[in-house]
Amino acid sequence: MSSFHEFDVISAARTWRNDATTAPLPTSTLKDVFADDVLTSDQLRQRLSKPVWKSLQATMEKGSTIDPAIADTVALAMMTWALEKGATHYTHWFQPLTGSTAEKHDSFVMPTSDGNAIAQFHGKELIQGEPDASSFPSGGLRATFEARGYTAWDPTSPAFIMRHTNGATLCIPTAFASWTGEALDLKTPLLRSLECLNTSALRAMKLFGHDDVSKVSSTVGVEQEYFLIDEEFYFRRSDLVMSGRTLFGAKPPRGQELEDHYFGSIPDRVLSFMADAEHQLYKLGIPIRTRHNEVAPGQYEVAPLFEGSNIAADHQQLIMQVLKNTARKFGLVCLLHEKPFAGVNGSGKHVNWSMSTDTGLNLLEPGETPHENMIFLFFCAAVIRAVDTHQDLLRASVASAPNDHRLGANEAPPAIISMFLGDQLTEIYDRIESGKGGSSKRAGLLGLGSPVLPTIPRHAGDRNRTSPFAFTGNKFEFRAPGSSQSVSFPITVLNTIVAESIDALSRSIEARLKKKQSFEVALQETLREVYASHKRIIFNGDGYAAKWHREAEKRGLLNLPTTLSALQHLTSTKNTKLFSDYGVLSHREIEARAEVMYDQYFKTVNIEGETTEWVAQTQILPGVLQYLQDLAQTSVALHGGSLATTRTIEQISQGADQLSHALEHLRAMNLELGGDTLLEKAEHMHENVLPAMLAVRKAADQLERVMAYKHWPLPGYREMLFVK
Ligand code: ADP
Ligand code: MG
Repeated sequence: MSSFHEFDVISAARTWRNDATTAPLPTSTLKDVFADDVLTSDQLRQRLSKPVWKSLQATMEKGSTIDPAIADTVALAMMTWALEKGATHYTHWFQPLTGSTAEKHDSFVMPTSDGNAIAQFHGKELIQGEPDASSFPSGGLRATFEARGYTAWDPTSPAFIMRHTNGATLCIPTAFASWTGEALDLKTPLLRSLECLNTSALRAMKLFGHDDVSKVSSTVGVEQEYFLIDEEFYFRRSDLVMSGRTLFGAKPPRGQELEDHYFGSIPDRVLSFMADAEHQLYKLGIPIRTRHNEVAPGQYEVAPLFEGSNIAADHQQLIMQVLKNTARKFGLVCLLHEKPFAGVNGSGKHVNWSMSTDTGLNLLEPGETPHENMIFLFFCAAVIRAVDTHQDLLRASVASAPNDHRLGANEAPPAIISMFLGDQLTEIYDRIESGKGGSSKRAGLLGLGSPVLPTIPRHAGDRNRTSPFAFTGNKFEFRAPGSSQSVSFPITVLNTIVAESIDALSRSIEARLKKKQSFEVALQETLREVYASHKRIIFNGDGYAAKWHREAEKRGLLNLPTTLSALQHLTSTKNTKLFSDYGVLSHREIEARAEVMYDQYFKTVNIEGETTEWVAQTQILPGVLQYLQDLAQTSVALHGGSLATTRTIEQISQGADQLSHALEHLRAMNLELGGDTLLEKAEHMHENVLPAMLAVRKAADQLERVMAYKHWPLPGYREMLFVK
């Protein structure tokens, strides 16, 4: 038997250079590369006649359906552009409830009767597609006998070219719905929620006298955290391959305690990977801005500049895809899982969210004038009310089996949704509540206490890293979303709950105006009332502290540490009513979503349970027994052994017994499903399978620390996290 591991640490550390395809050096300037593979509206305009362009432009701006009379012309222009870019196929690109993206490629090629072929793409193929929907999760919305699902072009998100090693495909962003018109995807409700937010915010802007504004939408910038490990290790760990996270692994002697990784210099191999990925993302028109090392060893972050939230959500999916694909070029694997490694930081996806007008005003940015600040305080108060009223929804929007390892597991952010405003902004609202306004008697400006208001600091100085929902000067940062999830649903929830709160505030002001109160007083009274009722959600302290957990409970805030506890709330009367009142999700649609989320939870843990059993039984235990056999032989050779052999044999055989014991229990739990309903199955996973897996892991991790290295079948944390 070979005395070396099957996995080779040295080759992992050394050989990547040989097969890495280096990033195309930027021979062209960024300006030339940027959005080169995107069918921008500029590109389209150049290819269409004026009347066709005008009609299409109206469609794109309103997000309405395209005039069938121009569809063929537009399709032809799109195809011509795509052919010039080297595309041979097109696909409707959509986002089913799995959270990833789906595509079904069709060729442009159409054989002709004379044995030749032409390229063809018709308006009807652009507008609507009909992929077989039966294999996508629908939560019961689409019975299998009625498998049809439709994809419909989203003209508000530009088409783009996806390249692979020897070809390219035209991707057309689409929504995906059942034949009854029910949303089967994540994009449709997002688009609907944008419409609500627009309507509500425009109504409010009118109250402020802003008739100039004709559109308000949410803006989103997403920070993506991820790990990179050598593929040599990845493919030798079936737990990583099957479940995306390590189900075994003793903590290495060195973790992140030296804190030397965060913002540290980026290793050459990783930087080359980043440059390559960024180059591709630039071509896709994704404005990547930031890259750096994250807190844990082997962990990194990438973030683009913010964009309109529909496009930002599409781009976020592309970022994940490009990161995963590009890593392989460098002999690396990109892990997007929320908690690939126990004992070191997990990965999140911070969703930075704000609202802006088509006149260029960021509604969550303190302004230069008292008038701008009133607008700011109004919209900020709407967010405060929204987050407090719908803590449960925000929490549920990020609920998943992998994210449970972050939220509620002593990691940032905690499972209690609270809001960080910063001391200065909190003080301003406190003053409004107490009616003190500014320090000056001249309460001049609109009774809101002028000397204070106009000087709202632009950068609310202090930062807080433990808050799940933090004000960061001109936007809110929702830190609870998981690194592998689609951001569409969290954004949909944010848009909807803030729209509802804006309406509540507007109604309050309008009612007061009717009673002949001045606008200033009406606003002030409204802010006072909203703040007083919802300020319990504001917490500027340390979100980790046990003290906060007790305090939050006193305040009546929800603490939902697990997916199952959070998902219960998704279909509460309050929430189904909110979604249906705003036309974002019907009762059936929200129930279907909850069902898919329960199902995914159940399946995820089920796969982990089976994988744990499998790896422990077929890899770890045989290694342990082999080592015991070696030790027994040594003992015989030494005529009864020595202190060292006796001790080691004792240690290893005890560990082996523990492992075997835990494994028996896990096997029993894996065989059982816990019940017939999805909820019962999910609960069985949470209550029985997860603890049983953990017991197996504990026994195995203890063994890993005492076993002969050569008999340990899996690459360890010290290899995976530190070989670069
Ligand atoms: P930090 O790591 O300090 O939280 P980053 O600079 O890494 O911040 O990321 C901040 C993100 O917030 C970026 O994607 C940025 O474009 C985005 N952002 C900035 N302004 C807005 C805004 N008005 N709306 C939405 N996102 C914004
Ligand atoms: Mg951040």
